[in-house]
Amino acid sequence: MALAASSVSNLLHFAVSSDAKAPRIGSVQPLNWPHVLSSGVNYLRRGCRVKPINSQSQRNDLFVPLAVNTLASEVVEKAETVDYDGLAKDFEDASPLEIMDQALEKFGNDIAIAFSGAEDVALIEYARLTGRPFRVFSLDTGRLNSETYQFFDAVEKHYGIHIEYMFPDAVEVQGLVRNKGLFSFYEDGHQECCRVRKVRPLRRALKGLRAWITGQRKDQSPGTRSEIPVVQVDPVFEGLDGGIGSLIKWNPLANVDGKDIWNFLRTMNVPVNSLHSQGYVSIGCEPCTRPVLPWQHEREGRWWWEDSKAKECGLHKGNLKQGDIPQLNGNGNGTPLVNDIFISQNLVNLNRTGIENLSRLVNRKEPWLVVLYAPWCQFCQAMEGSYVELGEKLAGSGVKVGKFRADGEQKEFAKAELQLGSFPTILFFPKHSSKAIKYPSEKRDVDSLLAFVNALR
Ligand code: SF4
Repeated sequence: MALAASSVSNLLHFAVSSDAKAPRIGSVQPLNWPHVLSSGVNYLRRGCRVKPINSQSQRNDLFVPLAVNTLASEVVEKAETVDYDGLAKDFEDASPLEIMDQALEKFGNDIAIAFSGAEDVALIEYARLTGRPFRVFSLDTGRLNSETYQFFDAVEKHYGIHIEYMFPDAVEVQGLVRNKGLFSFYEDGHQECCRVRKVRPLRRALKGLRAWITGQRKDQSPGTRSEIPVVQVDPVFEGLDGGIGSLIKWNPLANVDGKDIWNFLRTMNVPVNSLHSQGYVSIGCEPCTRPVLPWQHEREGRWWWEDSKAKECGLHKGNLKQGDIPQLNGNGNGTPLVNDIFISQNLVNLNRTGIENLSRLVNRKEPWLVVLYAPWCQFCQAMEGSYVELGEKLAGSGVKVGKFRADGEQKEFAKAELQLGSFPTILFFPKHSSKAIKYPSEKRDVDSLLAFVNALR
């Protein structure tokens, strides 16, 4: 594959692992895929918009053009397109190592690991264990902690690789900072800064690839990341061949718990970011990341001054379903017809009068926990099981559990009177106070909700 290297090689620290540098582990057997081949699932079904990995090259010179032909001979020509939904289902129970091996085998030099400088270093370790060549890129936003830069350096040395750093456009950063200052994200949200420093460089990087590998996990953000498949057609970004559908996103860690990642890192003696030992779990830019307390959800350490709804920074915004955002930001009209949720004899269904009365009382017979919800909201749907279970647990305990549908024509009222910022909003009405207390966490499992109630009842 002919690549124009010279125009960008002075801009990018480029690197790729090589067979010589990436150590092979003798105990790792070449992986094969009998279960795939025998599964009867037709992965080569026509109809998907994903183009074959070695369709006519249109590689531009925006991204890492020096790593060439490492795998050219390994890339098998396929005229067919691939059913990635089917592949994701079949690989749902596969190990990260199996998934990584499949990704690297399938895409060769046209795939790269997106490395954030946190525990997703596990991806690099898994790639090493496959024994295959692999590429790693990272976004240098210019706002990372010095510990993260030191960690990048340690990872390069440990694995004998050069990370392909991507930088924001200098003119865009200059415009943003001169116009709005260095900390505008605290005033008007992180999207604009993230767009300049992260999303656009990422977009440029991905335009040079046909697939990428992320460290996204389902347990990282119970709302937005709870449905991540191990592989998918990227719903947001474009790859080398252009157009939505031209890029494949692999998420080998989708089904892995954070604690298992850490067991793996410890077992394999992998270098880790020293910020982790200071209480950081999720690591991003320095001004937008903070340590979390024991048992506090890791995503609460990112953009903590904003609503939990926005904690995706644009990098993985395909995790948010289309119908969701317009409802939150729109005028509340045209509420879709969907079945109601939180149906249980242990939950009191409050209407507008009911919740108005409840919120006006100063002395209630008992405290209340009430969820403000919209039945079409995926985050409300995701917590339905735990909230119903909570209702069962609290039945007869002296704490009432209720729900109030706050979308549509009730939304403005709920925003003005009930602290509604996004769905779901969970309120605790204490026994002897008129002021409702808003549940501040993204953790909506039974134990976390119960801890909140028990702390306040
Ligand atoms: Fe900017 Fe914060 Fe986003 Fe980094 S995480 S790009 S500093 S808003």
